[in-house]
Amino acid sequence: MTDMEQLARRAEEDCREVFRRFEAVEAACTGRVLDAFESRRVEARHFTPSNGYGYGDLGRDTLEALAADIFGTQAAILRPQISGGTHTLALCLFGLLLPGEELLSATGKPYDTLTEVIGFKGEPGSLKELGVSYRQAELGPDGGLDIPAVLGSISEKTRVIFLQRSRGYALRDAVSPESMAPLIRAVKETRPDIYIVVDNCYGAFVSEDEPSFYGADAVAGSLIKNLGGGLAPTGGYIAGSQEAIGRIAARLTAPGLGLEVGSYEGSYRPFFQGLFMAPHTVCQALKVAAFTARMAELLGLKASPAFDAPRGDIIQALILGDPGKVIAYCRGIQSGSPVDAHLSPEPWDMPGYQDQVIMAAGAFVQGASIELSCDAPMREPYAVYQQGGLTWLSGRRAVLRAFSALKDWPEVAE
Ligand SMILES: *Cc1c(COP(=O)(O)O)cnc(C)c1O
Repeated sequence: MTDMEQLARRAEEDCREVFRRFEAVEAACTGRVLDAFESRRVEARHFTPSNGYGYGDLGRDTLEALAADIFGTQAAILRPQISGGTHTLALCLFGLLLPGEELLSATGKPYDTLTEVIGFKGEPGSLKELGVSYRQAELGPDGGLDIPAVLGSISEKTRVIFLQRSRGYALRDAVSPESMAPLIRAVKETRPDIYIVVDNCYGAFVSEDEPSFYGADAVAGSLIKNLGGGLAPTGGYIAGSQEAIGRIAARLTAPGLGLEVGSYEGSYRPFFQGLFMAPHTVCQALKVAAFTARMAELLGLKASPAFDAPRGDIIQALILGDPGKVIAYCRGIQSGSPVDAHLSPEPWDMPGYQDQVIMAAGAFVQGASIELSCDAPMREPYAVYQQGGLTWLSGRRAVLRAFSALKDWPEVAE
C-alpha cells in the first residue's frame, strides 16, 4: 500500500461520522423529492420533447411544479433555456428591480460574475445602466450575517436584499438557510415590499432545509450544479412566491407570455432523472469534500471548511499558498477525471472573472461543477476551490492524484 493510500484510509476512517450526517440529509431530501414526484404523478409522457412556442408543454410545467414542491414555494421556473447560475440571478434582479431602486447585498461582495450584472464598472446592459443602485453590507467578524448592519443599510430605495448562500471564490463559510431566517423575518416585518433573493448555487440539498422554507421570495441556482444531479445537460431554476416568479417570468420570456411558452426539442428525461438523483449526487460530492479536507489536514494544509465543520455548500477550499501548487493540484484533479484526463489545465483570462483562473474540469457536461472540478483564481492566498464528484470513489481517486501531484509542483513566478 502506498503512503498516500494509507493516509486516505485514515482520513476515510476519520470521516465516518461526518458521512453519516450527509446520508441523513440525503435521506430527508430524497423523501421530499419523491413525495413531489408522487403527488405530481410523474409519467413517461412528461419526458417527451416539444417544439415551437411550447404551449401546454407538460414536461416543462411538471418540472416547474416539482421544483416548487421541493422548495416549498408557490411557483418555480426550471428550464433548459437558462444558461446557468449567473443567468438565473440576473433574471431575478432584472425582474424585481426598477430604475431608481436599490439592490442591497447582505453577504458582502457577490460572486465574481454578478459584479458585471450589477454594473460595478457601469457595464452596458447592467443594473447600474438601468438606474438601479447598489450597496453591500459586509459579513460579521465571525463570518456570519451581520443583521444589524443589513437592517441599517436599508433605505427608502431598497427593493431587493440579496444573499449568497455559498462561499463562492471567497474564504468564508457558507451562510446556512437557518441563519437567514432572523434577517428574513425582520425585513418582512418592517418592509414587506422588499424581496429577498438568494443565490443558492452549490447549496441545494446540502442541508434538509432551503432558504425558501424561511420566506425567501426567490431562490435560484444552476442545473449543472446541485439540482441537476449531474444528469441535467444545462439550465437553471428559480423557486419563489407567485408574485416574484410572475415578475421574473415576464423578464424570462415576455410580459404577457411568462411561463406559458418555451419548448425543448430534447428529452426532458435527464431533468427529471437529475432531480431524482440530486440528493444522492450532492451527498457523494459532500463526501469527496470532507475527505479532501481531512486529507489536507493530515498533510498539514489548511482546509476551509474543516472536515467535520457544518456545511452549507459543496465547496471545499484548500489554502496551498503558492501558484505552482495550485497548478499542480488542479492538474492532479484533471488527470483523475473521466473525460479529458489526458489534458493539462492552464491559468487563463476567463470572461466574467477579474483574475486569471485555472480550472480542472473533466466533466461529461461541459463546465458542470456538480461533477468533480477544481478552480482557482490566481491570486493570494493561492487557494483552490474544489467541488463536486458524481461518485464518492471516483472523487476519492482523483483527490489522491491531486495530493500526490503536490509532492512535485512546478516553480511559477508570482
Ligand atoms: C456558480 C455560481 C454562480 C454563477 O453560476 P454560473 O452557472 O457559473 O453562471 C453564482 N453564484 C455562486 C455562489 C456560484 O457558485
